[in-house]
Amino acid sequence: MIEVRGLYKRFGDHTALRDVDLDVARGEVVVVIGPSGSGKSTLCRCLNRLETPDAGAVRIDGAELPAEGRALARLRADVGMVFQSFNLFQHKTVLENLTLAPTRVRGVSRAEAERHARALLDRVGIGAQAGKLPAQLSGGQQQRAAIARALAMRPKAMLFDEPTSALDPEMVGEVLDVMTGLARDGMTMVVVTHEMGFARQVADRVVFMADGEVVETGAPAAFFDSPATDRARDFLAKVL
Ligand code: ATP
Ligand code: MG
Repeated sequence: MIEVRGLYKRFGDHTALRDVDLDVARGEVVVVIGPSGSGKSTLCRCLNRLETPDAGAVRIDGAELPAEGRALARLRADVGMVFQSFNLFQHKTVLENLTLAPTRVRGVSRAEAERHARALLDRVGIGAQAGKLPAQLSGGQQQRAAIARALAMRPKAMLFDEPTSALDPEMVGEVLDVMTGLARDGMTMVVVTHEMGFARQVADRVVFMADGEVVETGAPAAFFDSPATDRARDFLAKVL
């Protein structure tokens, strides 16, 4: 479903990604962990070309990511992205946040977009908030709205970049629960997170990055209980 080969990304003379390979199968949940500055966000952003790689290939469903234009917009719509900051349209209601892109980009009718949006808001547990503005919601509700908005495009895969890092602790669980539900329903997911409990319980595979490289990858139980590299061991000693 997602194939990354030999990805390089430099910022000036700093190499943020160095020869990164990654495969995510359909329905697979891959959790990416690693120290600050290791390139996790850069990798995520290269996956839907918010960032342009210097070398290497990203293929979604067998198709190479086009550099620009309509083809890129279409492929980007296939990969939903959820950020640390919720990035909702502040002057639109929650419902409008969900219906905007499907009606404009996908050509879905307003009635169908609203029906789907309400179903998604119910699914993430905020059906009662449909008519409110984002600022009237709690952080956890806003992040669940952002997830629902991404799902409204019927993506083939979802990328999450530290979706719970900006939340008050009591709201982390409700967002992780929504993500766990998505995973159980078979969504293909790449999740950058510091939530090691989520990684252990929900990931099919953990990818450990350091200094722009994939250092180690494995099943969560094996990775957490017996990491193969010193760098992974050092990292886990600090976060667990
Ligand atoms: P964190 O856990 O703090 O979010 P990360 O693993 O997501 O870290 P990235 O944000 O991908 O790390 O950054 C990787 C490296 O690339 C860092 O050294 C960062 O300073 C650098 N970097 C990222 N984006 C840019 C940019 N737009 N311009 C210059 N340097 C950048
Ligand atoms: Mg980051």
